[in-house]
Amino acid sequence: MNDFEVIIIGGGVAGASCAYHLTAAGIEDVAVFEKDQPASKASGRAAGFITPDQFLSTGTHPDEHKYIIRFWEEMAQDSKLDLHYGDAYTLARDATSVTYLEQLHEETTIESHLLTGDEIGDRVPALITDDIEAGFMFENGFSLDPYTATVTVLEDAICEGADVLSESVESIDTLASGSTRVTTSERSYTASAVIVAAGAWSKSLVSDINVSLPLKPRVSQIAMLDPGQTVELPLINDPDLELYYRSEVNGEILIGGGTGKTELNPETFSSTAREEFIQEVAEKAPQISDQLQESQMTGKWGGLCSATPDRHPLVGEIHSNGVYVCCGFNGEGIMYSAVAGHLIAELLTGATPTFDADIFAPDRFETPEEDFEIRSAIEW
Ligand SMILES: Cc1cc2nc3c(=O)[nH]c(=O)nc-3n(C[C@H](O)[C@H](O)[C@H](O)COP(=O)(O)OP(=O)(O)OC[C@H]3O[C@@H](n4cnc5c(N)ncnc54)[C@H](O)[C@@H]3O)c2cc1C
Repeated sequence: MNDFEVIIIGGGVAGASCAYHLTAAGIEDVAVFEKDQPASKASGRAAGFITPDQFLSTGTHPDEHKYIIRFWEEMAQDSKLDLHYGDAYTLARDATSVTYLEQLHEETTIESHLLTGDEIGDRVPALITDDIEAGFMFENGFSLDPYTATVTVLEDAICEGADVLSESVESIDTLASGSTRVTTSERSYTASAVIVAAGAWSKSLVSDINVSLPLKPRVSQIAMLDPGQTVELPLINDPDLELYYRSEVNGEILIGGGTGKTELNPETFSSTAREEFIQEVAEKAPQISDQLQESQMTGKWGGLCSATPDRHPLVGEIHSNGVYVCCGFNGEGIMYSAVAGHLIAELLTGATPTFDADIFAPDRFETPEEDFEIRSAIEW
């Protein structure tokens, strides 16, 4: 007799989404192990952009996008979670980028508009559009507070029967009985299925069962600016500047980027923003808007994301004892976790996957040990 039917390791948005979708699918004997506070790592430090243009770097995924929108809209009903709607733009500042945008515009079935730089200037007067050649525009993107979002999903799962245990998982081992044992700082537990949703820590956890994940922890960063005046910026991805930005409800401007290209050790990671990123924001903010010339930086931080070779997450079974991973979100986990949790629940209940499980399969790489280059979520 196992202690739990399913153990989820990690109380970030991925673990929360798995717990939510499993309990919604009728599996209530679910335990989430979190070594710190829920949403205290990447999930509490994100920008919270929910915009389809963030997918475009990995191709267009209209069905997944529709589900993500529906999921967060449902979560926002009768809860503390607010969704801040606005148009979402992806800008192209040179001819190569324009060609890329045109190609994606042709391919996508997500409703979008391809605009010239002047048209963007008419819609977003705060932007300097002199060197903006074109842009994609989606109506009804939104942003949310990622901490509140994660906690809302987790609380919903708790209401449906999930337990959250404040224990750090130290090892995983597969047993001859077919169950899997999870040993924490407190004691050992067994389960019929274990889902490793431990963000950047997932790679080292699964090495216990001799699985090598193509996953590299890397930094993403955010700076908050006080412009000292009202500046209206919608949700903007600006790949050629390697930044994304938007106005916040309190009038501050959130600027994200600073994707590190180096693999980091999660055990020694510092969430302090790097000096190069602070310099980059100071130099590039005045190129975004004249109204940001005199802005003051009021906050800055970094968080750990996990890169994969093709920038898609790793979601699926990695061991026949029922060990699964749900990680590697490449800076898009607030969005993708909705789809990933849904897929995990379908895989565990034997339902036919709604989405193409192959693009998320952890074993999709022919040479998983091969080194790969870390790429940013907003890079073309
Ligand atoms: C600056 C920044 C901006 C971002 N902006 C966006 C955005 O706009 N839109 C978007 O979609 N995504 C964004 N992201 C990405 C998003 O935040 C992540 O992809 C997502 O939060 C990953 O969630 P996770 O649950 O996999 O990982 P995490 O949030 O890191 O959660 C993993 C959890 O596992 C726990 N854990 C680890 N090891 C153990 C163990 N041994 N035992 C128990 N618990 C353990 C950790 O304590 C942690 O709570 C951004 C990220 C950053 C850093």
